[in-house]
Amino acid sequence: PIQEAKYIWRNGEMIPWAEATTHVMTHGLHYGTSVFEGMRAYNTKHKGVCVFRNREHIERLFFSASVYRIDLSKYSVEEIMQVCKDVVAKNDLESAYIRPVAFLGYGEMGPAAFDAPTDFAIAAFPWGAYLGEEGLKNGIDVAFSSWRRNAPGTTPAGVKAGGNYLSSRLVSQEAKLSGFAEGLGLAHDGTVSEGAGENIFIVMNGKIYTPTAASSILAGITRDTVITLAKKAGYEVVEQSIPREMLYAADEVFLTGTAAEITPVRSIDRLPVGKGNRPATSQIQDMFFGIFSGETEDEWGWLDPVA
Ligand code: PMP
Repeated sequence: PIQEAKYIWRNGEMIPWAEATTHVMTHGLHYGTSVFEGMRAYNTKHKGVCVFRNREHIERLFFSASVYRIDLSKYSVEEIMQVCKDVVAKNDLESAYIRPVAFLGYGEMGPAAFDAPTDFAIAAFPWGAYLGEEGLKNGIDVAFSSWRRNAPGTTPAGVKAGGNYLSSRLVSQEAKLSGFAEGLGLAHDGTVSEGAGENIFIVMNGKIYTPTAASSILAGITRDTVITLAKKAGYEVVEQSIPREMLYAADEVFLTGTAAEITPVRSIDRLPVGKGNRPATSQIQDMFFGIFSGETEDEWGWLDPVA
């Protein structure tokens, strides 16, 4: 169950968690017309509680809203960044998962509904390692789902909208019901796409590979973080379309996401990954978590202090 916090921001006000309810005729509930973000606040050693890559997440939220014409023109990116920090502070959270969600609310039915009002909420609550502390250390077992990810020209994978997570649910539940920690999806053309809620990376012969946007991925902010850190560590990072068997030939595989952070994969479809040692994954994990301990200098301005 969700670990409740005290307050949620709703359309401009802080209200008690239990009062943040909505009507059953809400447009987003029927048609998937919601856009959202998943962000984390970390209790850093050197800068106190900070939201990680606040701006990039909120810019992506505004982009997602624009594609489905969910009107956020009442708000600026800067205001909403500040609200995310306020919600963490108001709830006295030291580390948190932050969930902004904007959806078409109550007032008009029908998919096109031009006049359905925007309903906008931002919650923050404690959420530990999504694929488990154990998984972060020792790696997880994953498998490809029989379900393909949404094809280009259908609902766009590069937009973080509620409706897309029907695909994620099918992929993730199928894998979990078969005893795997997470499911992977192939793109419409059979190339590797991503995990149900994570991007995927491969380390092979000292180079790092990850699928391109053409393979129906959400271009993750953690993905961008990893590409930046890996390049800084001297790796060549190649974005290309990836055939499934390349995963079986890889030396290392890992998943990235705000919730999943950087989680190593130890087997795919019951085939063990590489030789079981993970020097590159460990190095990038250390650089990533070093941002929060202060050991990695935040030369990009990714930490946004709450106080
Ligand atoms: N792909 C999907 C489908 C996701 O839901 C997520 C999580 N937001 C990601 C990738 C990773 O994105 P990010 O690193 O921005 O959290």
